[in-house]
Amino acid sequence: MKQFKAESKRLLDLMINSIYTHKEIFLRELISNASDAIDKLYYQSLQDGSTGLDRDDFEIFLIPDKEARTLTIRDNGIGMTKNELENNLGVIAKSGSLQFKSQMAEKDGDKDVDIIGQFGVGFYSAFMVADHVTVTSRAYGSDEAARWESSGVEGYTVSDAEKETHGTEIVLHIKPSTEEENYDEYLDCYRLRMLVKKYSDYIRYPIRMDMERSRLKEGSKDEYETYTETETLNSMVPLWKKNKNEITPEEYNRFYKEKFFDWEDPARVIHSSAEGTATYNALLFIPSHAPMDYYSKEYEKGLQLYASGVMIMDKCADLLPDHFSFVRGLVDSQDLSLNISREMLQHDRQLKLIAGRIEKKIKSELLTMLRNDREAYEAFFKNFGLQLKYGLYAEYGAHKELLKDLVLFYSSSEKKMVTLGEYVSRMKEGQKDIYYACGENIAQIEALPQTELLRDKGYEILCFTDNVDEFAIKMLGTYEEKNFKNICADDLDLDTDEEKEAIKKLMEEHQDVLDAMKDVLGDKVKEVSLSNRLKSHPVCITTKGQITLEMEKVLNSMPGAENNQVKAERVLEINASHPVFATLCALREKDPDKLKLYTGLLYDQALLMEGMKLDDPVAFSNGICSLMV
Ligand code: ADP
Repeated sequence: MKQFKAESKRLLDLMINSIYTHKEIFLRELISNASDAIDKLYYQSLQDGSTGLDRDDFEIFLIPDKEARTLTIRDNGIGMTKNELENNLGVIAKSGSLQFKSQMAEKDGDKDVDIIGQFGVGFYSAFMVADHVTVTSRAYGSDEAARWESSGVEGYTVSDAEKETHGTEIVLHIKPSTEEENYDEYLDCYRLRMLVKKYSDYIRYPIRMDMERSRLKEGSKDEYETYTETETLNSMVPLWKKNKNEITPEEYNRFYKEKFFDWEDPARVIHSSAEGTATYNALLFIPSHAPMDYYSKEYEKGLQLYASGVMIMDKCADLLPDHFSFVRGLVDSQDLSLNISREMLQHDRQLKLIAGRIEKKIKSELLTMLRNDREAYEAFFKNFGLQLKYGLYAEYGAHKELLKDLVLFYSSSEKKMVTLGEYVSRMKEGQKDIYYACGENIAQIEALPQTELLRDKGYEILCFTDNVDEFAIKMLGTYEEKNFKNICADDLDLDTDEEKEAIKKLMEEHQDVLDAMKDVLGDKVKEVSLSNRLKSHPVCITTKGQITLEMEKVLNSMPGAENNQVKAERVLEINASHPVFATLCALREKDPDKLKLYTGLLYDQALLMEGMKLDDPVAFSNGICSLMV
């Protein structure tokens, strides 16, 4: 007897002792496996034609046997060698989702119940209804067969076996019924037919079973006899080929969850078909949450690709642009050749055409959602908005036209997420630019001294809290011919001519104080100046030129930036009408040392308000203490 690997054992244990009420899904799992196995062989026969097999040659057969208490699921797919039996069924960490499944199950004791149903746990689900499982298989092209047998966690055996034809036969010995659980129903052909209809209707190969029927005995008026008749149980029409109005939301949701291993319904379903230059059916889903690895390198984008109903690729990346990489789903087209290789596919004109259409379709669906179901869109944006903003920035803004109306930012005056279009439509008379401010979070931005004047004038400020925001907007350049302006730029240009004149005069008057302060700060700042933009705060930092403080922060924290630090050109702006300025002026004559201390402290304060790190926090702290004693 061989032992299961630890993680297999864990999952197996979960299955055997499952209190899950929908144990019936084991059938769906085993049928899916059978269908996959047929797919593999069918695909091979289409590619090289060497098998001589036809689509009509394939089938999945169910055989319930009440006397023996067994249910057999038989396919004539690609089968497994002895080695494969051992590797595939003894170790169960193949499908990437497994690790996730068991993690989830562990994390949340009672949620595992749900996880089982939603994810599809594969072959081991057989142990939810069976106390003994026998798998006999013969790989296509081999004349040897092998058998795998197990009664559960104790282990399994693999031995040589006899089998006439290629394919796999799984015999489940069904558990005895208990008070809580009726297992007998998995031996009943009508019940099984119902389960196939419910879960496996769109499987593309016939699922057949000998149905028990009764009829009047020949020549008799009231005597019945039973007979059996083979019936195909599934309609075999893939969901995406059905008419939209024949599909219920539940069907879409179930399909999505099973196929794409999600436990939550999708936020949006996009079912579309096109004819003409490109003929295809697409069934796309926008998930209602981001996968755990979504914003990591591990995440693989792509849509399943079918050529005339046969899956030729599981994750076709070329079908999805990066900015819509969160979309899951499939595309089925008769324009694609079955034999096409991955390399050729990349250059396929038809595929490009389809990809272009799909991109447009996704965009229009998102816009519709934005217009008609704002709440849902905002929830979507919480999950995937970052990706759209990366999209604005990526490839030197190549996709900005497509994406600019899909992004949302938090508005300081509306107190909610707004589009750029909404911002522009609300701009005040005389307002030239679209104002934004950057920070760690909304509260920090709203507390920035620089916001006071804009708020006074009634200007709306967009709050940028993601690192990519400012870069994305720089790439966008303008929106409806309006420029974007960081409220911390030194050239905000909000003053009237008189105000400008007054400040200029004041600066001339106090040039000595400003010069003294600049001397203290040295290279840290480009300038020390007076400004009108501050109301209640004594100082703030603004920047000259293209690089803002936020960009400095982001760029310098990128990997590899250690030796190549950028620096924004900083200006220390002082509020000329703040009492602190009067103090500074007085100190200039009376106590130049104190002016030095105050200058340093004010500069550090301004940095702190911007959410920047201090060069020397200890000096700052000592400075404050020296004022206290
Ligand atoms: P998954 O299907 O998620 O990979 P399973 O536990 O259901 O996980 O199956 C494990 C593997 O066993 C499959 O990937 C497949 O290679 C193999 N397998 C299962 N059932 C069959 C079958 N009926 N015919 C051929 N191979 C099968």
